[in-house]
Amino acid sequence: MITGKNYIGSQLIANGNKTYKTFNPQLNIENPWIFTEATSDEINLAVDLASMAYDTYKNYSGNQKADFLNAIADEILALGDELLEVYCTESGLSRGRAEGERGRTIMQLRSFADMVAEGSWVEAAIDTALPDRQPIPKTDLRKMLIPLGPVVVFGSSNFPFAYSTAGGDTASALAAGCPVIVKSHPMHVGTGEMVASAVIKAAKQTNMPEGIFSNLNDSGITVGSSLVKHPQVKGVGFTGSIKGGRALFDLASQRPEPIPVFAEMGSINPVVLLPQALEEQSTVWAAQFASSITVGSGQFCTNPGLLLGLKSDSLNEFISQLSEEIVKTVPSCMLHPSIRNNFMTGKKELQQQDEVITLTEIKTEDAPNFAEQTLLSVEGKTFLENTSLHQEVFGPLSIIVQCENETELIAILDKLEGQLTGTVIALDSELGKYTEVVASLQNRVGRLIFNGVPTGVEVCPSMLHGGPYPASSDPRFTAVGIHAVKRWVRPFSYQNWPNVLLPTALQNENPLGISRLVNNKQTHLPIALCLEKPSFV
Ligand code: NAP
Repeated sequence: MITGKNYIGSQLIANGNKTYKTFNPQLNIENPWIFTEATSDEINLAVDLASMAYDTYKNYSGNQKADFLNAIADEILALGDELLEVYCTESGLSRGRAEGERGRTIMQLRSFADMVAEGSWVEAAIDTALPDRQPIPKTDLRKMLIPLGPVVVFGSSNFPFAYSTAGGDTASALAAGCPVIVKSHPMHVGTGEMVASAVIKAAKQTNMPEGIFSNLNDSGITVGSSLVKHPQVKGVGFTGSIKGGRALFDLASQRPEPIPVFAEMGSINPVVLLPQALEEQSTVWAAQFASSITVGSGQFCTNPGLLLGLKSDSLNEFISQLSEEIVKTVPSCMLHPSIRNNFMTGKKELQQQDEVITLTEIKTEDAPNFAEQTLLSVEGKTFLENTSLHQEVFGPLSIIVQCENETELIAILDKLEGQLTGTVIALDSELGKYTEVVASLQNRVGRLIFNGVPTGVEVCPSMLHGGPYPASSDPRFTAVGIHAVKRWVRPFSYQNWPNVLLPTALQNENPLGISRLVNNKQTHLPIALCLEKPSFV
């Protein structure tokens, strides 16, 4: 049941008087539930509880944390069809998408559970003492990753499960040992409350400390801003627009104690189309890119918003095929009227720029919140000079840039802002001739794709989902896959610390049996055996 209240720890509280509703974009009506915004007292209570929970939770074993994460996954599944129905009602997304995204969310929670249960993720490094070393003795030093403290998570509109309440940021922060306070996304607060109820139920079942998780409602930016400024908050996870991510990043930097903000933001995901590949397979690529641009109404951070080609007959052929293909796709519902309004405004702004040609555009007057997929075209020189054409328009829109030559193509790539992905469509034999193009692309992106489309993010350790600013606020980290945990920890050293008082991960006996770097060699062995057999592996 949806109550409309905030979870302050395990308590459902709503003492505020500001209320709001979510919207059903398919039916174009408001949803029935009434949500109450968190008050400043409720915000402070949630953070105080999280801070107290941190002191306990940071010392919990990997197995205890794994039990909690697995219990969250189980409880989300136990919410069954009702959760999926609320998801669809609040997002306009399909039942199939809801099931797929729930599956991904469950899988994320379980992979973090496996990681903490195994334990080696803490990157334990041990350098044993050398008391006889000359001219001065070497002391015993041991280092590992420890959690930062309470973390605030902002979810995005387009992933009500996987990048929201119990999505990748929350799962990775809980795995790291950080309590989490979620600022629920205003477009899917009901979905958020239901998922939060699953987290709270799991916390009770697995004896987690009170305050390990809170879920706060907010129709605007007051609650989120207060949370980021709160002195006891030690990190922020954000998925959303560049504007929102940058505002929170600036707020966090202005604090007396600045804290890290890991913001995953917008991207136009440039695609370089090399001539021979188009000559041989333009029909195939036109069909694939029409689908990639329009899938999910283009509401993916990896949507290909920019196609770059070298002027040629094969590029002309590709453009006319893509124009034909893209209008064949049946338009679909966008997430919310305001997302559609932003799409329509952004699209219009691009169309009004000098020398931008609209190749195709679908009209959806009878379906108020449906997307109007659009393909634009512009000369390389114009694109190079007008950086307002480089901005993300969130939705099914792509701009084809026709470059005079390779030099112009490289100049454009060099001028792009940071991106999540960069794609190259090429024949194997032709790639070697364009090494400078590939090098320029690599400088601007977090992931290179060869002969594929950028939509779709595999959740696995080798995935890098992030990139140079503004794709993300810190290109050294990924938001997807188990290495996302590294955003919520800091390295910490113990010098000459008594063995029994060390965390188990650093004790001589290696009671967890984890992989550790001992005197510069990776091993599972206890210290005594390492010292006995210095040539161990
Ligand atoms: P959004 O408008 O930035 O909202 C994200 C969240 O941040 C919302 O809860 C929003 O609250 C809050 N927020 C925004 N500005 C804020 C501010 N100045 N202060 C405090 N809170 C603020 O983005 P969205 O529409 O939900 O998501 C679409 C965007 O997300 C697209 O640009 C897409 O590319 C990007 N995205 C990126 C990734 C990635 O992994 N890189 C993944 C998915 C989506 P309010 O709604 O109340 O303002």
